[in-house]
Amino acid sequence: MTIAPRGLEQTAPEIEQVARRYAVAVSPHLLSLVDPADPADPIVRQFLPSAEELNTLPEELPDPIGDAAHSPVKGIVHRYADRVLLKAVAVCPVYCRFCFRREMIGPQSISGQDNALSPRDLDAALAYVAAHPEIREVILTGGDPFILSPRRIADITQRLAAIGTVKIIRWHTRVPMVDPARVTDELVAAMHAPGITTWVAVHANHAREFAPEARAAIARLADGGIALISQSVLLKGINDDVESLAALMQAFLANRIKPYYLHHPDLAPGTSHFRLGIEDGLALMRALRARVSGLAIPAYMLDIPGGFGKVPLESDHLEKTATGHRVRDHAGRWHDYPG
Ligand code: SF4
Repeated sequence: MTIAPRGLEQTAPEIEQVARRYAVAVSPHLLSLVDPADPADPIVRQFLPSAEELNTLPEELPDPIGDAAHSPVKGIVHRYADRVLLKAVAVCPVYCRFCFRREMIGPQSISGQDNALSPRDLDAALAYVAAHPEIREVILTGGDPFILSPRRIADITQRLAAIGTVKIIRWHTRVPMVDPARVTDELVAAMHAPGITTWVAVHANHAREFAPEARAAIARLADGGIALISQSVLLKGINDDVESLAALMQAFLANRIKPYYLHHPDLAPGTSHFRLGIEDGLALMRALRARVSGLAIPAYMLDIPGGFGKVPLESDHLEKTATGHRVRDHAGRWHDYPG
């Protein structure tokens, strides 16, 4: 589905160009949340394509967080010793315009990737986890793993639990906010298995995403015994003011989701219009601390470009330089960062 944002109709050919390069999809639920009276609508800005996406900067990278450097078998990213990512699908019900994996996800015609791991690739990925008993936690991501049927979610859950050394399964998803009807009691039941604890990280970036349908979907997860944490991206023009951030974090808490990570936006291609400077982010975090309860404070994180891992920015991992910043990874190596 290709949609030209309101007010940008004159750029329709450019929007078509964006849609040929990056996946575009918006759910009917999200469209129902658009406020036609709001010229800076955070739903429009997050999900509807813009000609600004055709502007790729030299520092932007097709694989900004360096997944490929840590992928021993298809579908697995093993960056930290005790946990892996399991990328079971390469598609999402909607496509965020700032997505850090935008070069790797979407319909096969755009991403060049299969929509999901084949049965053989899934077998190989699970065999890798079984062969590494140091892996305690498996993080299902993609794409959005909640696009899978409850039957396939149950299959993955049961097989991971049967390994014995995996104790935590964490699902990273945007579905409760963007397509809440997919969160059924059947899906919630599918995520449970003996011997494992199930966590869900819910991705939302603005309090406006907490529609009644989304709140009901989150309640089904919480009532179903799933532990909930948040993930958000700090985005220019969407949540880069303290009132928007406070409202977002308070909405998470009110819905039984512990604010966990606020990501500094990654250097994904064609997303510079969403990025702000690290100093701006640090100032916002200071203002947020003065504004809300400690329970509502997420960690402000940067994924170091190139696959060197995630570090907290409000820490001694960060130093200012003449041209931007440098960040220290967990192995003690310093990396320049242009922002
Ligand atoms: S839901 Fe996640 S993987 Fe899918 S487009 Fe949004 S950020 Fe990217």
